[in-house]
Amino acid sequence: WDKNDFPWSKELENIQKTVFKIPSLRAHQLPTMNAVLSGIDSILVMPTGGGKSLCFQLPALLSEGITLVVSPLVSLMEDQLMGLKARGIEAKMLCAASTKQEVNGVHSDMTNPKSGLKLLYVTPEKLAKSKRFMATLQKMHQLGRFSHLAIDEVHCCSQWGHDFRPDYKFLGIMRKMFPGTPILGLTATATSRVIQDVQKILDIKGCLVLKASFNRPNLFYEVRPKPSVQEECITQLHQLLEGEFKGQSGIIYTMTIKDAEELVPVLRSRQISVAPYHAQMEAQVRSKVHKKWVANEYQAVVATIAFGMGIDKPDVRFVIHHCISKSMENFYQESGRAGRDGKPAKCIVFWRFADLNRQSTMVFTEQTGLENLYGLISYCIDSHRCRRNIIAEHFDERWESADCRGMCDHCRTPRETKNLDTTKYGENVLLILTKAASMNERLTGQKLIDLFLGKGPTKLRIKEATQQGLPRERAENIVAFLLIDGFLKEDFHFTPYNTISYIVPGPKAEAGVPPSSLIVGGIKKLSNTS
Ligand code: ADP
Repeated sequence: WDKNDFPWSKELENIQKTVFKIPSLRAHQLPTMNAVLSGIDSILVMPTGGGKSLCFQLPALLSEGITLVVSPLVSLMEDQLMGLKARGIEAKMLCAASTKQEVNGVHSDMTNPKSGLKLLYVTPEKLAKSKRFMATLQKMHQLGRFSHLAIDEVHCCSQWGHDFRPDYKFLGIMRKMFPGTPILGLTATATSRVIQDVQKILDIKGCLVLKASFNRPNLFYEVRPKPSVQEECITQLHQLLEGEFKGQSGIIYTMTIKDAEELVPVLRSRQISVAPYHAQMEAQVRSKVHKKWVANEYQAVVATIAFGMGIDKPDVRFVIHHCISKSMENFYQESGRAGRDGKPAKCIVFWRFADLNRQSTMVFTEQTGLENLYGLISYCIDSHRCRRNIIAEHFDERWESADCRGMCDHCRTPRETKNLDTTKYGENVLLILTKAASMNERLTGQKLIDLFLGKGPTKLRIKEATQQGLPRERAENIVAFLLIDGFLKEDFHFTPYNTISYIVPGPKAEAGVPPSSLIVGGIKKLSNTS
């Protein structure tokens, strides 16, 4: 697909240079456009900012009729329309806020062979809910004017992704309703599982999948132990924002709205210019915060995941996760908002076991919530491997550690591993759990860690099983490792006020797998730093 001797190749290059003013194409752009123009169904997987839109915008100009673009957010559509209009390209959109006049105009363009409309943007709701629109689309198809269907953020079809939208499921009927109209799905979500699911849902199994590398060489990845005392954590944030990141722009992600609301005044009291951004704020206020941040009037936004799609400030120099994200996918997207301009930027996660519990009680009701969360935990607790490699593995890619070039905390200063006698840890944790169970006590993660460290209620302590002198941080990582590896399991209980996660023996422990033999490698990987 990388050839340029297709019938359209000359014209394509011409439009690329004169209309889009793009001197050279990036990897995967030409193959995708050639596939689209050949009438082949395809999915393009490329990190955000990679240049996916061009892959349907340019072919739209080379085709008769109209390219229909499904996009989940009105703000994303508006951005693209602005860009297209500036280039003199005829494009329109339909959304819930469109006036009657606009709607009528679009409907007439769709079926009028004389109309010059090239790209039509719609929200998935429009397709799912407007019978009139579907009827006109069918007419457009019968008239041979439906040239391509582009589905932006196509991972929204899949529950395995990080952004499931029920209306995207409706897109499953498009292949049957509009045979012969090639489909192009675009996403920055790269796991094979999501891609396969999307292919199934859209009924385009076996379509061409073009996948760009997810390596972001200019991003420096780091995980820091999060101080248990909030004040110390604030001090570290303060030091970062007033020190290394002074005068630079960034994002601080928190887990909850409450966290964001609490963090802002504390940082402001230290003369750091920040503003909150979350779903409970009015749209107008949110948009004002966004604008002021883009204009560098705030150094950072303190945000929940509501600060997401459509954020494309090029010079974000840091993304700090004050609390872990809910999955590797989320983490990659959130941290990926740093360094869009290609210059170095830092992605720092503050990790501590207590946040695992907080996140897991929020995500465990989702079908794959815990599995996704544990994927990110293994990134946080494995301080003896290149962070970039762990991310690569998650996206089914292989980047040599040489590719990191010292751009993660591990590769910059590799930690020495002491040859500790670690074989007993897993068994000891299980011994404590067994004793607690025999006394009808339920242990939360924190209590288990306390007992493991020789603290907590005396009656539950087991002399041989306590690890006095072990740093708390390490004990936490050991328990987290046992959890994500299946020796321990979280058991959730509802109270009228909250959900509690208790720790119980996991499937491996129940199957009698001896932790001593299996966890040695794993435990060694944990923070047993000298
Ligand atoms: P994505 O949808 O993958 O997040 P966009 O399509 O919004 O990315 O493109 C990001 C930016 O890159 C846009 O400003 C676009 O004009 C620019 N761009 C796309 N392709 C190229 C290219 N080949 N060379 C230079 N800039 C490009």
